Amino acid sequence: MLIDPFGRSVTYLRISITDRCNLRCAYCLPASGIKWIPREDLLTADEIIYVVETAASLGVSKIRLTGGEPLIRPDLLEIVARISATPGIQDLSLTTNAILLEKMAQPLADAGLKRVNISLDTLDADKFQRVTRFGDFDCAWKGILAAEAAGLTPIKLNTVVVGGFNFNEISDIASLTKSYPWHIRFIELMPVGNQQEWGDNLPTGAERYVSVQKMHAQLEHLDLAPAEAPTGNGPARTFRIPGAIGTVGFISPLGEHFCENCNRLRLTADGYLRACLLMDKEISVREGLSNGANLKALLQQSVDQKPKGHELASSNYPEARRMAQIGG
Ligand code: SAM
Repeated sequence: MLIDPFGRSVTYLRISITDRCNLRCAYCLPASGIKWIPREDLLTADEIIYVVETAASLGVSKIRLTGGEPLIRPDLLEIVARISATPGIQDLSLTTNAILLEKMAQPLADAGLKRVNISLDTLDADKFQRVTRFGDFDCAWKGILAAEAAGLTPIKLNTVVVGGFNFNEISDIASLTKSYPWHIRFIELMPVGNQQEWGDNLPTGAERYVSVQKMHAQLEHLDLAPAEAPTGNGPARTFRIPGAIGTVGFISPLGEHFCENCNRLRLTADGYLRACLLMDKEISVREGLSNGANLKALLQQSVDQKPKGHELASSNYPEARRMAQIGG
């Protein structure tokens, strides 16, 4: 078992399988000039599977694939099939922007993927294009419907709430749960490598951050009532609009952080174990890739680095990597 110095047991590994993305969401990536990890430095499918098998032998039972955009990795179906066949892995999910999901949803389900989290920040095609810099809303929407048809459920939609951009839309987004069995999660914007100007009439500086308390207040007219969380809901606090078939959740990495229950370890696309999303300490797994005993020791070393909680409140922001490089 992987137990950290604060007695938390680590059972969940989030794997970024590529840092590259087919979008450039303004709060996540700059519009241009990005230095991608060289392809030869990315972990191969065999290496990823070796880490998963070793982690599973130490009690990890839950895997999420993320990125960058995981759907652009050519060997994704192989990776999914092999992880889903790994003894001990009970839950395999993936986070995506859904742009390529219309075609990929059924093959992913057939390969053993259980469910997807989909990032969707707006219901307005023009705003979608501006915040993603060139994304097509219809593609993403068709991807969400395809995921549902393929049974990649419960479907969770992640919306990063940004003041001056989509804050005025959160009532419409929450109201999707009246018609669809989806689980919307409104997420506070995290200050990770995104302090610069975003351009394209997108909001600046202090205007951007919206607390979950402010989101709640904006949704008061919907009479949200506390509700049971869907499978694998992690740190969201969950509510339901009376009579709705889906739920509305709030994730507050800053205001009401959930570090005391953190059971996660992260693996970056270039093979670094990261004990906390919001702290820059990392350990390379390369030395463990040909020796299971070494790899077990490296996994425990990384777990030993887990901080009690992140330090965003004292302005201790991670700077070494952007969100797309860590895997959100
Ligand atoms: N490309 C995939 C996607 O769009 O879902 C997976 C990678 S993306 C980095 C994972 C999640 O991180 C997305 O839901 C995205 O909205 C979120 N994210 C990125 N930057 C963020 C930030 N600064 N604050 C909060 N969430 C952020």
